[in-house]
Amino acid sequence: MVRPRAWFQSVSGDPERYPLNEVLYRDPKTGALLEVVHDLEALKARTPAAWMKTFDERYGRTSWPYGSGVWSKHEWVQPHVAPENVVSLYEGNTNLFWAERYGKKHLQLEDLWVKQCGTSHTGSFKDLGMTVLVSSVKQMISEGKPIRAVACASTGDTSAALSAYGAAAGIPVVVLLPKGKITAAQLLQPMANGALVCALDTDFDGCMRVVQELTKDPTIYLANSMNSLRVEGQKTISFEIVQQFDWEVPDWVLVPGGNLGNVSAIAKGFLEMKEVGLIAKLPRLVCCQAEKANPLYLAHQRAIAEGRDLQESDFEPMVAGETLASAIRIGNPVSLPKAVRALVACRGLVEQASERELAEAVARADRTGMFNCPHTGVALACLEKLVARKVIGADERVVVVSTAHGLKFTEFKAAYHEGRLPFESSLANRPLEMGSDPAEVVAELHRALDAVVP
Ligand SMILES: *Cc1c(COP(=O)(O)O)cnc(C)c1O
Repeated sequence: MVRPRAWFQSVSGDPERYPLNEVLYRDPKTGALLEVVHDLEALKARTPAAWMKTFDERYGRTSWPYGSGVWSKHEWVQPHVAPENVVSLYEGNTNLFWAERYGKKHLQLEDLWVKQCGTSHTGSFKDLGMTVLVSSVKQMISEGKPIRAVACASTGDTSAALSAYGAAAGIPVVVLLPKGKITAAQLLQPMANGALVCALDTDFDGCMRVVQELTKDPTIYLANSMNSLRVEGQKTISFEIVQQFDWEVPDWVLVPGGNLGNVSAIAKGFLEMKEVGLIAKLPRLVCCQAEKANPLYLAHQRAIAEGRDLQESDFEPMVAGETLASAIRIGNPVSLPKAVRALVACRGLVEQASERELAEAVARADRTGMFNCPHTGVALACLEKLVARKVIGADERVVVVSTAHGLKFTEFKAAYHEGRLPFESSLANRPLEMGSDPAEVVAELHRALDAVVP
């Protein structure tokens, strides 16, 4: 068989190739983003049926490292990383949840699924990309590259994932955080995993400037989302979705978008599978933004007003406002050029949700057995709007990508149920305060149960 190969290439269209084991974050000529390009002809040397069989045989098993959802697609992700250098916490293989009750009750949709990517080691789907980045670093170290540490400027899920994978690999991690602007919960994961946690007297953008300065030193490797290796792990979401549907492609995939790496990654997964023949069509993609941080939504509206496809020139950066969906509070997304291409290729849409809409969508879905984070709430609220407008039809198969575990965002849930948000929480559910007399408690409970509306 022809050996699978991949390399970095600029998204600017420049044909020059760069090896994946080089410390490189941007196109050295133009500064444009890089992406990992796979030799799809080499992957075609095996038939689609043979790939599906291989993937199905590896799925969820213990043969290292192929049981991981990401590394079961090794040849398509990072073929140059040797199995002994893979740093895996058995990420991926997440539940594709049939949202039967939520779909039927609120949307008249029979075929609605939620891909629970946040049911993962650090509680968010960032694990999928981080296993690839840290494994690639371990590969470089094994080849003699003098890398001392990996670093990122993040306040939330990225720093948690980097800290866990760094600790698993024994590679030092530096996390730069804006002092006083993050919650205890967001701090705890990197602290517990032994990262060097730096609280800087600045905001997130200030931390970003520092980490870029810090990683000019090639011995400190930059893990922020301009690093295109992470996309290779995130794209396995698409592989898992079709694999879980016995290699059928859904009609729609909705994903919340901030820095826009993930909407690009999901499209990349589907496009590569289609090119090699594992699937015959592409789903339509929806990038779901919070109204407070909606620059791509506004760009898409400009394109619609002119009756044409989205272009990069439609985009204007903005200062993102405060939103409950804090992980997508981004006004100038780094992966914009990739996202524009992804949306055009997958006949994509961009929708938005207000704070009230996202919080109420979370509450409605939670009442049917889920436990959603606010970002997943943005995607659910956008789904509700697209179904109401009949853009998404009742007989279509829809997948919502849930990006984090609700348990990482308990402050948001507490504020909702305690009625502390700046709008009415229509499904607030507070504990009933009761005495200790059994007869009185039972009588009160009977009254309360009579009032329960499932
Ligand atoms: C990172 C993240 C997103 C957004 O992904 P982008 O690639 O930045 O668009 C959404 N939800 C959660 C929970 C995240 O951590």
